[in-house]
Amino acid sequence: MSLSQKEQRFMIFDHCIACTTCQQMARPMFDINDSGTMAVIIQQPQTPFEVKKSMQALKSCPVSAIGVRSA
Ligand code: SF4
Repeated sequence: MSLSQKEQRFMIFDHCIACTTCQQMARPMFDINDSGTMAVIIQQPQTPFEVKKSMQALKSCPVSAIGVRSA
């Protein structure tokens, strides 16, 4: 990713229902925590392809519990 390109930073909100959709769609960025109660961001996307996968996960979340902001 070029330095001029804005970094996309993803986050999980507390109302996540741990449905695993984002985990299935966008590993290795998204995973479910050890207690299985909510998703966690393991790493921020590093490449345009990973950003695309993460955005697809965001759009697919059934409870809109994934957020993103440009750093
Ligand atoms: S898709 Fe949404 S509700 Fe499902 S695990 Fe991911 S953040 Fe949680």
